[in-house]
Amino acid sequence: MIEARFNGTWQGWRDCARALTSRHTPPWDILWNASAGSPGLFDSDELCGEGARLNVPRDFLECAPIVACHRSPEPWRVLYRLLFRITHGERHLLEIESDEDVLEFRRMEKSVRRDMHKMHAFVRFRRTADDDYIAWYRPDHDILHINADFFVRRFGSMRWAILTPTASAFWDAETLRFGPGAPHSAAPRDDELEDLWRTYYASVFNPARANVRAMTKELPVRHWPTLPEAALIPKLLAESSLRITAIERTHTRSATHFIPAGASLPVLRQAAAGCEGCDLRLYATQTVFGEGPVNARIVLVGEQPGDSEDLAGRPFAGPAGEVLDCALREAGIDREEVYVTNAVKHFKFIERGKRRIHERPRGPEISACRPWLEAELRLIRPDLIVCMGATAAQSALGRAVRIQSERGVFLPHHIGAEAMVTIHPSAILRIPDPVAAEAERVRLVADLRGAAARIRGLDNTMKLA
Ligand code: SF4
Repeated sequence: MIEARFNGTWQGWRDCARALTSRHTPPWDILWNASAGSPGLFDSDELCGEGARLNVPRDFLECAPIVACHRSPEPWRVLYRLLFRITHGERHLLEIESDEDVLEFRRMEKSVRRDMHKMHAFVRFRRTADDDYIAWYRPDHDILHINADFFVRRFGSMRWAILTPTASAFWDAETLRFGPGAPHSAAPRDDELEDLWRTYYASVFNPARANVRAMTKELPVRHWPTLPEAALIPKLLAESSLRITAIERTHTRSATHFIPAGASLPVLRQAAAGCEGCDLRLYATQTVFGEGPVNARIVLVGEQPGDSEDLAGRPFAGPAGEVLDCALREAGIDREEVYVTNAVKHFKFIERGKRRIHERPRGPEISACRPWLEAELRLIRPDLIVCMGATAAQSALGRAVRIQSERGVFLPHHIGAEAMVTIHPSAILRIPDPVAAEAERVRLVADLRGAAARIRGLDNTMKLA
């Protein structure tokens, strides 16, 4: 039996593991000791050891550091069992979802990812006299290091510290550093931001969601001591108790309750920034509302904002937007003259290391957000709605749509316009074969040319009439 001593970090384990794997040491011969030892033998970013390159699937490389944050003795054993099997004849092991080791790996990954999401939502900073911001937070897993970049991205211009019982992160608006853990008493208890939080929470408190089971699921009780708004909960619950039952009976989660009646487009946009129609708002940076002239004759509808759009706050501002812009130009359509929006206004993603990977919105999320699209369409009253992708088509037309069978066809839309279905520009970016991608891009341009011709055709009909 070999005692593998390392410092309890992913890097430390990785260095030990690649050396052991290169020596073909089987998992049952290793006793992992995460409480001591040097960081490891090698310093490369790759899983390499003693000159031998260990070729592991990307999925493992992306998920293993997340699993390594799981607060139990298990991750190191599970990770090594998987690594050993992957590098000893079972390269596609992670694709076998029923395998015991894979199941354990995925269970731990899911638990850590959920904890990371909760931390994004529940860290509350308190301002100090020096204008620094300090938050104390108790995560379930050792996620501070892997999660700190999220707070750097979101609060990059502030000087802040996040203290947890086992580690702390410090950001001075330039450099991120880590230090030892700190007790709750090390963080300031109160500041004027608390009043702001409480005012905000009271104003957005939704009695329809004031059932304790639902609330404790979204806002776990263990986080209440660090959340200023939590002190309001008993009072708000008591005040709303009479309304709860009636509202709960009829309420399904939707953006409807956040849409002001008779609003103009700018007011709609402002209201959408505070929408809580579904949980996607908890994780995304901001609402990405549509943009373009209110008298646009064509509305282009996409699926949801991507990573770039989420940060920029504008639809189609990233790589898919570049594909769309080129296609519009080739089709003779001026982007400034069309209204561009998405079926779902918040970015849905899953975090893989430092990357946020797009995740397709589910039916309830599409339905919850549909009132925004409906409100945009009713205000703009376009002649033509171009639905880019199945999600856009489902939201705009209110039914499931098969792109290949209905593509390019002009369909009646209930607001009195026509709708046309084509592919989403990002689908072109996902086609690995450049020839096939170009063919699909040409088809998108042809669809958009058809849309432009349809508008010209409508003009001619009106002139003749
Ligand atoms: S995705 Fe739509 S419904 Fe959900 S919170 Fe965002 S704007 Fe509201």
